[in-house]
Amino acid sequence: MESYRQLDSAGIRGLVFDIDDTVTRNGVLEPVAYTAMHRLAGAGFELVAVTGRPLGWTDVIARIWPVRVAVGENGAGWAWVDASGSHEGYFCDELEREAQSRLLETVRQEVASAMPQITTTNDHRHRRCDLAFDIGETQALPRAEIDALVELIEDLGARTSVSTVHAHAVPGLWDKAEGVARALHEVLGIELGVEIDRWVFVGDSGNDAAAFARFPKSVGVANVREHLDRLPVPPRYVTDGDRGVGFAELATHLADRGA
Ligand SMILES: [Mg+2]
Repeated sequence: MESYRQLDSAGIRGLVFDIDDTVTRNGVLEPVAYTAMHRLAGAGFELVAVTGRPLGWTDVIARIWPVRVAVGENGAGWAWVDASGSHEGYFCDELEREAQSRLLETVRQEVASAMPQITTTNDHRHRRCDLAFDIGETQALPRAEIDALVELIEDLGARTSVSTVHAHAVPGLWDKAEGVARALHEVLGIELGVEIDRWVFVGDSGNDAAAFARFPKSVGVANVREHLDRLPVPPRYVTDGDRGVGFAELATHLADRGA
């Protein structure tokens, strides 16, 4: 990985960024990272937050953070606010989402019976399209147990995505990269494939794998080094600081040249 200082900021239009452990520390948004978002937005960059967190949270994030779109549940849906109000979009249509919800109920029951020590996340009630298990938020599961959970979910027919805090059962074909591409198209009329060189992705862990692979200008905050074994394609660049401190370093590097 190269230093983020090597990232050529010429022509950059926007930043797509993960939330947990990219702009937060111990679950709390870092002041330097929030200030950095405002600085970037003020300099004319389009900001897109993309997270494994619930779609119920993205409704709030889209309203009160300086972002154009907030993508949640690792790409399953998104929320945005414009002059006509607040809106939501989904990767799959309503019929598909109903079938997916039945599969998730099966996963929930099977995990509860085979691995009763594993609990669903405390943000469960705000989820619409996936099911998440707590692997590091309120309890730290050993790696072997996380691997067994992932195997069980995949045997039942769902895909999985693992972040620092949650293991997700994913019943559809979305991921962070595909979800962001669809959201940018629906909300801003942007074809990401055509201008992907103009976008920077910033993240830190396994559930950012698809985005690290898709975005040529990908950046890991320094704590990404703890998760390189879960990333088939590592980020091209890395910051010096970890979490929100690293995000703020990158923001300064980008905003200093102007948008
Ligand atoms: Mg993260």
